[in-house]
This record gives sequence, C-alpha cells and structure tokens, in this order.
Amino acid sequence: MIDIDQLAKRFENISKEIGEATLVAVTKYSDVREINVAYDIGHRDFGENRVSDLETKAKAFRQENRDGVRWHFIGHLQTNKVSKLIKIHGLYAIHSVDSEKLLREILKYKEDILSPISLFFQVNTSGEKEKGGFEDYESLKKAVANLLKLSSTSFLFEGLMTMGTYRTEHKDEEAKRCFKLLKSYGDKLKEDFKLDEVKLSMGMSDDYKIALKEGSDLVRVGSLLFK
Ligand SMILES: *Cc1c(COP(=O)(O)O)cnc(C)c1O
Repeated sequence: MIDIDQLAKRFENISKEIGEATLVAVTKYSDVREINVAYDIGHRDFGENRVSDLETKAKAFRQENRDGVRWHFIGHLQTNKVSKLIKIHGLYAIHSVDSEKLLREILKYKEDILSPISLFFQVNTSGEKEKGGFEDYESLKKAVANLLKLSSTSFLFEGLMTMGTYRTEHKDEEAKRCFKLLKSYGDKLKEDFKLDEVKLSMGMSDDYKIALKEGSDLVRVGSLLFK
C-alpha cells in the first residue's frame, strides 16, 4: 500500500513533466483504497481496462460520494459488454474504439446514455498481431465519417489512441515511430473533416516522455504511479 505522501509526490512529478496534457491515472493494478488516496490529493481522471473492474470501482466511489471522477475506459471492449459499460456513472471516455463493428454497437445506445461520452479511435500503429485497432487510414476515416455524420450529442469524436510496440529491442525508436504515425493520422483527419482538434491519447509509463514530445494530449500512466 502506497502512502499518501509518496503518491502525491509521484503525481506532482509527472504533472510537472506533462504540462497541459491530461494525466489519466491507470488504476488497473490498484484497489479502491489506493484510488481514494489519489482522489484525496485532487486527481480526477482515472483509466480502467476491464468493464467489471470499472463497474465495481465506480460504484464504490459513488457510494462514498466521491463525485467528479472522470472514468476513462482504455481496454479492449467486447461488443457484448458495451451496454454494461455505457451505464456506468462517471464514464467520460472510451479510448479503445477499435473497429467499425464496435462503433456500430456503441451507437445503438445513443438515446440511453447519462451524459456525453468522448470516443477515441484506436489505431494499430505497431502492426503487431495481438493489438487491436484500425489498421490503415482509409478504414479509420470511414469510421470517423460514420460517427460525425450522426452529429450525435451523446457520443463525441474526441481523437485517436495508440500503444507503442511492446516486443522490440528498439523500444524508444519504435514508440516514436508509432506516435508520429498517430499524429499524422490526426492531422489528416483534421484536414479531411475540417476539425479544430483531434486529441491524441498516447504514452504509458515506459514511453510517455516520448509521446509528449510527439504531441500527446493524454498520457495513460499506471505502474509508474501505483507500483
Ligand atoms: C495498462 C495500460 C496502460 C498503463 O500502462 P503502464 O505501463 O502501467 O503505465 C495504458 N494504456 C493501456 C491501454 C493499458 O492497458
């Protein structure tokens, strides 16, 4: 169990480094008590990668009247879990819309949601088989077009998400290549759809510094904070 001073120091250090970017504190390794400590020092953006864990944690927060938390869903989302996810109070964003099929499933709930939810489209920039996400610009563009043409006030197109290559000897260069590719897709979307902003969710404990240099707007950091 991390003590409050230690955790506060870690948040402070990372917050200094990231400047204007948003720190999504990934709580998948943490129990509710640890997340409470982060909440008590003023943090509000938390990320989870499993629907059932997010449900449990969000419920515990509500029961203790810890309001104002923005939950970010960052994991692979199965279509049969969408209805459960969408009902969670405080769900703020889904970072991992990784296919046209999943997007269609999410949009079925556009009349039912509690408050607007930001969607990030996941791009497989590393080309690794085990990673999800849109594989090329054209398929991504088509999915974005399908969301935008609805002009939905329930689901907002917020931006793009990616993960750097895991298994490689040249981790830093590979991460940089992945982040540059995501940035180029974001820029193309801005141009093609005349958008003011396409946010980039990229960078984890190992590579958030690289991601920030490449223009990340949200970093998703877990182990560096909580382990
Ligand atoms: C676990 C996870 C993170 C955080 O990873 P750390 O290396 O612990 O910082 C970020 N993004 C996604 C999608 C994750 O699953």
